[in-house]
Amino acid sequence: SGDLERARGLIREVPDFPEPGVLFRDISPVLADAEAFRAVVYGMVRQAPEFDLVLGVEARGFLLGAAVAYACGTGVVGVRKPGKLPAVAHRVDYTLEYGTATLELPEDTVRPGQRVLVVDDVLATGGTVLATCELARRAGAEVVGVAVALELSALGGRERLSDLPLQVVFTA
Ligand code: 5GP
Repeated sequence: SGDLERARGLIREVPDFPEPGVLFRDISPVLADAEAFRAVVYGMVRQAPEFDLVLGVEARGFLLGAAVAYACGTGVVGVRKPGKLPAVAHRVDYTLEYGTATLELPEDTVRPGQRVLVVDDVLATGGTVLATCELARRAGAEVVGVAVALELSALGGRERLSDLPLQVVFTA
């Protein structure tokens, strides 16, 4: 659609962020545009499997995750970086290109047996999404799919998700 084409043009490319040699894609201008935001949110769920709950990853995954959940009539959970939550149900450490990272799931959110959709803005190496999937599974939920606005295909995230259904709006 025209709105999706315009949305793609609104993705800002920032060289050498957060470190030299990295081309960072900033989707903030997409979310700030009413039609582009709507088109991207619907693009993320158009072919998604049925789900009961959205897990959105800090921080831009909060914005998209809440919109996806509201559009589909489900609840939403913010998966957080360490030290932010007053009560942590589960914690997963994972490796990044340089060093490690941690994500935490708040208490009393995910219930056993729920079908979870994991939402983030960008899929790069897939480590963040995989850690979020692990949090959902530790809470007894079933991860039925992943939805992102932008897939950076050269970084291999799709391969690491193996056969988990992946819904992507844009690829770079
Ligand atoms: P991963 O390598 O684990 O797939 O990505 C790490 C995290 O950094 C994810 O939350 C992802 O959204 C974010 N990320 C990695 N590269 C980019 C980028 O170019 N732009 C944006 N907006 N986020 C990125």
